[in-house]
Amino acid sequence: MNQPVLQFIGKITIKSLRDYILDAEHFTNRDTILLHPVNLRELAYEYRQTFQQPFPFPYLILNVLILEDPSGLVKVDRIGIVKEDVASKQKYFIKDFVDPSEVVYKCGYCGNLVRENGEPLDTLSHTRQRRILEQFDDKDTTVKYIHGYCHRSVSETEKGAEEMLRV
Ligand SMILES: [Zn+2]
Repeated sequence: MNQPVLQFIGKITIKSLRDYILDAEHFTNRDTILLHPVNLRELAYEYRQTFQQPFPFPYLILNVLILEDPSGLVKVDRIGIVKEDVASKQKYFIKDFVDPSEVVYKCGYCGNLVRENGEPLDTLSHTRQRRILEQFDDKDTTVKYIHGYCHRSVSETEKGAEEMLRV
């Protein structure tokens, strides 16, 4: 693992980490965020309080790995950024992880779980999203209904029918 670059983001919470991930320039989900053990414990506590679920391991926010700093370089109340940390992701990637902040997309016609663009999900993502729906309340999960791949033919058929009517 590369040396972490330390950043200060104020109080380290699920929300402040989420905001950092969304706002930081050039930050991608191949980068890992390291926390001092004290901060990771606090984050785990916040998670349990908020979601009434055990703190998952590995823990991801917006598909970014949040790990305890193994190097001792990350000070309390700082976050350590490790760029392009694909190795950790492969090492810690367990198919069971769930992230309640992940948006779940469903086909509006049949309720099939689909990708953001309506295409089929890979098996792993499908399993993960099903778990999210099973484990978290509606208020914690965002479900968006879109036109799924499974019903692409619907609009074509309807269009065809309209054209036939017009003729
Ligand atoms: Zn469908």
